[in-house]
Amino acid sequence: MLLDQNSELLAAQIANDGQWRFPQSDSLPYKFKKCILTFEDEYFKYHPGFNPVSIFHSFQRNLGAPKIKSGGSTITMQVARMIRNNQNRNYYQKFVEILLAVRIELSYKKSSILNIYCSNAPFGSNVVGLAAASWRYFGRNPEQLSWSEAAVLAVLPNAPSLIYPGKNQQRLLEKRNRILEKLYKKNIIDASTYQLSILEPLPQKPYPIPQIAPHVLGDCIKNQGASKKFHSTIQKKLQQQVTELLNRHSQNLSANQIHNACALVAETETGKVIAYVGNSFSPTNAHENYVDIIQAPRSTGSILKPFLYAFMLNENKILPASLLEDVPMRIGSYGPKNFSLSYDGLVPANQAIARSLNVPAVKMLQDYGASKFHLRLKQLGFSTFTKPTDHYGLSLILGGGEAKLWEIAAAYSSMARALMHYSNVRNLYATNSYHALSYLKKETSEKVSVKLRSDLINASSIYCAFAAMTELMRPQDYTGWAQFLSKTRIAWKTGTSFGFRDAWAVGLNPKYTVAVWVGNADGEGRPELTGTAAAAPLMFDIFNLLEQKNWFQKPTSDLEKIKICKKSGFKASEICDQTEFREYPQGAEKTKPCPFHKLVHLDESAQFRVSSNCYPVDKMKHLAWFVVSPAQEYFYKQHSFDYKPLPPFLSGCENESPHNQMEIIYPKDGFRIYVPIDQSGERSRCVLKVTHKNDNAELFWYLNGEFVGTTRKFHQLSLVPKSGEHLLEITDNFGETSNCSFTVLEK
Ligand SMILES: [Zn+2]
Repeated sequence: MLLDQNSELLAAQIANDGQWRFPQSDSLPYKFKKCILTFEDEYFKYHPGFNPVSIFHSFQRNLGAPKIKSGGSTITMQVARMIRNNQNRNYYQKFVEILLAVRIELSYKKSSILNIYCSNAPFGSNVVGLAAASWRYFGRNPEQLSWSEAAVLAVLPNAPSLIYPGKNQQRLLEKRNRILEKLYKKNIIDASTYQLSILEPLPQKPYPIPQIAPHVLGDCIKNQGASKKFHSTIQKKLQQQVTELLNRHSQNLSANQIHNACALVAETETGKVIAYVGNSFSPTNAHENYVDIIQAPRSTGSILKPFLYAFMLNENKILPASLLEDVPMRIGSYGPKNFSLSYDGLVPANQAIARSLNVPAVKMLQDYGASKFHLRLKQLGFSTFTKPTDHYGLSLILGGGEAKLWEIAAAYSSMARALMHYSNVRNLYATNSYHALSYLKKETSEKVSVKLRSDLINASSIYCAFAAMTELMRPQDYTGWAQFLSKTRIAWKTGTSFGFRDAWAVGLNPKYTVAVWVGNADGEGRPELTGTAAAAPLMFDIFNLLEQKNWFQKPTSDLEKIKICKKSGFKASEICDQTEFREYPQGAEKTKPCPFHKLVHLDESAQFRVSSNCYPVDKMKHLAWFVVSPAQEYFYKQHSFDYKPLPPFLSGCENESPHNQMEIIYPKDGFRIYVPIDQSGERSRCVLKVTHKNDNAELFWYLNGEFVGTTRKFHQLSLVPKSGEHLLEITDNFGETSNCSFTVLEK
């Protein structure tokens, strides 16, 4: 049986023999103890296992009868009979019982004997023991029974059939009232309690045994065996509320053929799980709803991106808002795309995390190293990335590997814990921050010490990573979100796996960590199945159930002030013109300076670029200019209205024109393109795109050595390429060339 934080029953499993039997309790509730002793064995406290007076009375009553009818047995003798498997009653058996009872009395305390009796006595139907009986007949803990209810249960061990509704009710009522009367006469209850108690009705239809956290019970039984009492950290009320919310969301999602969901709530500080709903409820279990998905490995989608961001901050590979490239890319056979299929050209790293852009994430992983990230994930506690790094490659950051919700929630809350345990005063870390979640109460608490370095990620990098996770999405992506915004600040991340198979949402604040997965257990993808649309609403609804909490304390001693370039987010170089000071992770000073600002030489009017070969040096103006690559510019200028392209060259200075003015945007080298066949059986047209920084450029296009066209201003050419391999070559009127090869696939 599984108990919650306050020892309330959460779930129990029926024994293999079909009996409801709960593990023995340590103590008996007062009311029931008084009732059972009053009814069964008034002198229990005093006798040595048998009661000579009552045996004599019973002997007298049974004189001449072939079988013993009425007992005279003490509770200890009944325990002896249970041990001997309820053998037939005759004088010899009775004698053996007395001997055994005396031995039991010599070896056990009175209270233990009474406990053994109450935990193993039959209570009618398929109910064994007080705890199971209390739940089955009254739907609550034995501790919560009224005097009347305790008296009903005290009657049952010796007359279990009386519980069946119908003809026996009157006899049960009489017996109960006799106990209550005795209690009153012995001054154990007062007159009004007695009067009210005899008015209470008898139990009717049995209550179902609660199944409030069946997956936790299942997990406990799998790990430790069935016949135990598991004291969990689950909060019953919250567990019920989360279950209800999850089932309500699941009902709506099932209209879109999305049939499974799971959710977990843990205390961030301790890692104690307080709600654990392993799957959505289905009366038919038609969609594997019995499976505990919290423990099932599923494709991670984007849910790991903040870890990479935190590691890169930690190792001074980036600054929180330094620009990352966001243009179409191809690495070998791998061509990641942003979810929106659009590109920003350049995007600050924290925004790339908040908006979950794929291309910048892959670039980050390429820069950080897939094998190092793979190792770091293992250090964070992930057990499922068991294949060699090459198996996942750069797709590791986009869901190429599988993880359990259980471990994702643990990793995020561990990071939060490391931040909370960090001491600003002494600049020290605790040793017990990174660990798994747990739903069982622990008896011993770990010894905690402190040290100078963090186990994995320093406090300031975690603080900055969480800050990026609180950034709002852009307004156009934000429609309909207002209602989910909890009043409290939450760091959160969603994830959607390839093919819309898994939708994730994880959120945390210093008090709680909430993790949600939505999808189909059989792996079927659905178009609506995204982290943002399917999982995050449930996560925010769960947060709204929870107590509000302030944000993490700023780890001031671990932050350092650094001058950054406002435009690029990098450490300011000597020529960056707009700078500001920011508090960034320890070691930020070691990062690369801004690579975007370059010194350009302009004429007197600052309208044209010049060089010393064509213009007097003393009349030149030298300005810091924000210079980006052609492909970056192609996308960047569409979003950044203050973007100023490099000025043209002064006539006569063009020869100084540097190369790399032109870049092929689509297709990239190595692309494999499907060109659809339309309804009439014709292959569709394919639009090739090139960007050139010089507005006056004229481009000449060659496909497989054959001239196919000229473009000015807008460099796009639409073609109907045959299937197979192609070589695209472009030449501009300044003599710069660029080429790429691509393959058109049959479809
Ligand atoms: Zn700069």
